[in-house]
Amino acid sequence: DLIIGCLAGVLFSILAGFYLAGRSLIPIRKSWDKQQQFVADASHELRTPIAVIQARSELLFRHPQHTIEEESENIALILKESKRMGRLTDDLLTLARTDSNQLQIHTAAVPVDQLLQEITEQFALLAETKFIQIHAQIEPSVIWGDEHRLRQLFIILLDNALKFTPPEGSIEVSCHPSSHSVGIVIKDSGCGISEADLPRIFERFYRGDKSRSRYEGGTGLGLSIAEWIVHAHKGTIRVRTQLSVGSEFQITFPKKTVNHK
Ligand code: ADP
Repeated sequence: DLIIGCLAGVLFSILAGFYLAGRSLIPIRKSWDKQQQFVADASHELRTPIAVIQARSELLFRHPQHTIEEESENIALILKESKRMGRLTDDLLTLARTDSNQLQIHTAAVPVDQLLQEITEQFALLAETKFIQIHAQIEPSVIWGDEHRLRQLFIILLDNALKFTPPEGSIEVSCHPSSHSVGIVIKDSGCGISEADLPRIFERFYRGDKSRSRYEGGTGLGLSIAEWIVHAHKGTIRVRTQLSVGSEFQITFPKKTVNHK
């Protein structure tokens, strides 16, 4: 009886051990699967520009007697796709660094109003070419953050606003401090986001209207990077949107206080 009891005890411990080890392996398995998916998606995304560049370069070689003017369409496409690849690899590098916790946030007091003003002015020039007006209502605000990453965040959101707003539309940028936080809103009168797309727009490589986003040079990685930057600053990001009316990205950051850090 004693021996049977001991054997049963040992067997139970072994089975329990396997069960617990299996359970603790589930998160590792999940993150491994996620990484595999990321690599597969990244390779897939890189294949298209590479294929275009290869095909168009071969065409150039086939007609050595053609002038640059005659081949301007092929050259323009090669340039466009190589720029896309450049953006894609930059975004992939950023995300790979966030995954391996290698992306450092260098915090300092950032006058976020000046940063927004500067970026808005740069975008206003681009917007003019699409007859889009940018209105800014920016109040003095300081947050504790990484200027380089915050710049990247605002560029992603303004770039999207411009990309998804038809000519003659408008974009509003606002920044208002309150007692404990700073609220930043980037609102456009663009195409809006469908209910089906909305829960997925922060996913890596997700593009609502693939052909449109691709045509405009989108990588489908902007909002995942934007979300990471906001969370790294302990902020929140929310979206309000209506199809054919527009979208509004609302960000809240904790305000820099005297005893912060
Ligand atoms: P990309 O812009 O490169 O496609 P993002 O990650 O920045 O990738 O955005 C993901 C998707 O979210 C876009 O493809 C688009 O469908 C949607 N989206 C983002 N911003 C806007 C916006 N301002 N208006 C409409 N749709 C948007």
